Amino acid sequence: MKAFEWTNASSVDDAVKLLAEVKADDDSESARPMSGGQDLLTTMKERILIPKRVVNLKTIQGLDGIEGDGETGLKIGALAKLHEIESHPVINKSFPGLAQAAHSVATVQLRNVGTIGGNLCQRPRCWYFRLPHVVCLKKGGDTCYSEKGENKYNAILGGGPSFIVHPSDLATMLMALDATITINGPQGSRNVPIGKFFVLPSENASVENVLADAEIVTQIQIPASAFAARSTYVKFKERESLDFAMVAASAAIDLAPDQTVRQARIVLGAVAPIPWRVPKAEAALVGKPLNDASVNAATDAALEGAAPLEKNAYKIPLAKALVRRALNGLKTA
Ligand SMILES: Cc1cc2nc3c(=O)[nH]c(=O)nc-3n(C[C@H](O)[C@H](O)[C@H](O)COP(=O)(O)OP(=O)(O)OC[C@H]3O[C@@H](n4cnc5c(N)ncnc54)[C@H](O)[C@@H]3O)c2cc1C
Repeated sequence: MKAFEWTNASSVDDAVKLLAEVKADDDSESARPMSGGQDLLTTMKERILIPKRVVNLKTIQGLDGIEGDGETGLKIGALAKLHEIESHPVINKSFPGLAQAAHSVATVQLRNVGTIGGNLCQRPRCWYFRLPHVVCLKKGGDTCYSEKGENKYNAILGGGPSFIVHPSDLATMLMALDATITINGPQGSRNVPIGKFFVLPSENASVENVLADAEIVTQIQIPASAFAARSTYVKFKERESLDFAMVAASAAIDLAPDQTVRQARIVLGAVAPIPWRVPKAEAALVGKPLNDASVNAATDAALEGAAPLEKNAYKIPLAKALVRRALNGLKTA
């Protein structure tokens, strides 16, 4: 690891100042925020990221709160740990899909340290991005090597010119729950709907989200909704122990008294460079009872337009199976 300066932020404003005052040069990037460090430190050890300064956010008091309930909506501080989210009684009762998504991440050791802010802002796991000596498109090169290379884990939707998939489990569920991300930076504070937080490679291949220099995520807000309490997250991993999703599906529905679907949310994970919401699949459910016919129609619509690479066509039937599993699980919820 290249030597770097360590700083402890005393407040959000202090963190922004500490991030903004360091400029990149030919050898190093400027400064990076660190929460749990579970991803940042790995990328630094592998010299994928070479910040001059690390700004420790964990020293900011009060940025880890979880407030609210199913009636008022939730406010989750960016430093809230994944373990706190998975075990929080209100989240388990009123936003169960979010608790399931948090529980699905890695191991309990990692969830005791990793935060929701770091989870949303973690970097991709694509082998080429993670290999220190490979200068792929995301690292300033001109080629996405996964497109014609080892692409078993890469995108089948929304790819090009880079074919990474977004690795965050929570992002997929938060997209289904219509979350809003609060960002603080040199220009002040702004709220960004999660649907506009992540960035496709066709817009900018070197980043995964809209964060500008010296900006940090400070809070995640989840509105009260009729579908949050009937939400679920299902994830398929190659290994039964800790692993990232090969494919994941988030679903949430609101049922009318006559058991027809009033509102639906379906978002796929690990199939695209961003959490992939599928409005056509949602529309296939609305106004219908949640039965085999409507679930099958939604499942087929969810994968419309998928364009697999040479080694990842398996993701299409896998994603269909997970959407079906998620929706069937909500029938009895
Ligand atoms: C073995 C292993 C298995 C894993 N498995 C999974 C998995 O199954 N699912 C999954 O989703 N993730 C997984 N992860 C990825 C990740 O480490 C965790 O998701 C964790 O939540 C990251 O949080 P952190 O607080 O440690 O982030 P950090 O490492 O502190 O930060 C991650 C990135 O986000 C930036 N950052 C941190 N906080 C902020 C902020 N508030 N605002 C802006 N930028 C910020 C950092 O600069 C860094 O680039 C795994 C990691 C490891 C090492």
